[in-house]
Amino acid sequence: MPGVRAKIVDLLHSPARTRASGAWLIGQRGTVVMVLRNGTLALFELDDAADDLPGGVRRWPVHWDDLLVYATESGSDHPCDVYRLGLSGTGRNAVQHAVPLDTKISLCGESMYPLPVCGWSIPFSPTADRACLECVHRAELP
Ligand SMILES: [Zn+2]
Repeated sequence: MPGVRAKIVDLLHSPARTRASGAWLIGQRGTVVMVLRNGTLALFELDDAADDLPGGVRRWPVHWDDLLVYATESGSDHPCDVYRLGLSGTGRNAVQHAVPLDTKISLCGESMYPLPVCGWSIPFSPTADRACLECVHRAELP
């Protein structure tokens, strides 16, 4: 998944174990390396070396509302990056679909609700555990 660059601006919505280190974490910059809990949480990897971190932990689950997204890492030219992430289903059964930029219909034909992330769209990742197989297949067609 191409990294979304962001800064932790708050921890009001994040899990308790993340909030417990809030005084240290707020203001840190890093990269989103994975989407958790069906899109509500981001696994956020801090830029700083692990040696300096509380308990040596470099990756923290952070709620999207607590992140200020300011960029995506460039240099990725994978064709799937042109698709946004859309979800169907709920809870642990949610499936990740590829949604073209100007529609709410996924490549496999399902109606999606977009992930509201500070007005930002999360790119579809064909390698995600819960990626829709049909969307992956269609996204990779030449
Ligand atoms: Zn799909």
